Amino acid sequence: MIVAIDGPSGSGKSSVAREIARRCDLTYLDTGAMYRSVALTCLERGVDPDDAEAVAAVADGVRIEFLPSEGGQRVVVDGTDVTSEIRTAEVERAVSAVSANPAVRVTMVALQRRFGEEGDVVAEGRDIGTVVFPAADVKVFLSASPEARARRRAVQRQGGNLATGDEVAVDAGDEQAILADLVRRDTYDSTRETSPLRPADDAARIDSSELSFEEVVEAILALSPELAARAGRADA
Ligand code: C5P
Repeated sequence: MIVAIDGPSGSGKSSVAREIARRCDLTYLDTGAMYRSVALTCLERGVDPDDAEAVAAVADGVRIEFLPSEGGQRVVVDGTDVTSEIRTAEVERAVSAVSANPAVRVTMVALQRRFGEEGDVVAEGRDIGTVVFPAADVKVFLSASPEARARRRAVQRQGGNLATGDEVAVDAGDEQAILADLVRRDTYDSTRETSPLRPADDAARIDSSELSFEEVVEAILALSPELAARAGRADA
């Protein structure tokens, strides 16, 4: 079974997709981590993210693995654990150009489909329901207001997690900067020529601005009897 969850940055996709994977015994595929891994490798090798050919060569040669661990999935690039390194503001500045590169997308989509062939997957990203797995069993487009998304990210950066009610104080300036960056990335992701961020015609649209984490998870489970049954089985 394939579950596709798309949406803009900070919509809560990652936490929700991880929870669905856990409850329904599916493998979690974080496609954003793959584009981030390519961006990080470019930065480390001094490759300009706007140099399309050089970036495509990096994407072609890099080995990206997801390894399960007690603290959650680890992202390993060419044998090095980069789980935290791919979350920096520097990588975030470089990743839009990298992910708008058509050759990079071809390579990453092929890799993502290979993960899908291996079994039951919940994949999250921007083009999962439209391009990567157009025949996915369940498709969700998860959105939230830019303000709600910026707040979640700001809390996350300070070590909290609104999804689990783990609230921490955040600096208003930081939150504003995160909001500006989210809006910049949204615009870039939705207006790029290759695989722009948009809901698949047959995706269920969920706005999480006013919903709790649990409400979003429940709304997704309710979309598919098979998914609900899997959740029931895993809980039993
Ligand atoms: O989801 P996350 O914020 O980790 O994604 C990082 C970046 O990777 C996004 O801003 C977007 O440019 C790109 N991305 C993409 N297609 C995907 C997943 C992520 O273009 N399927």
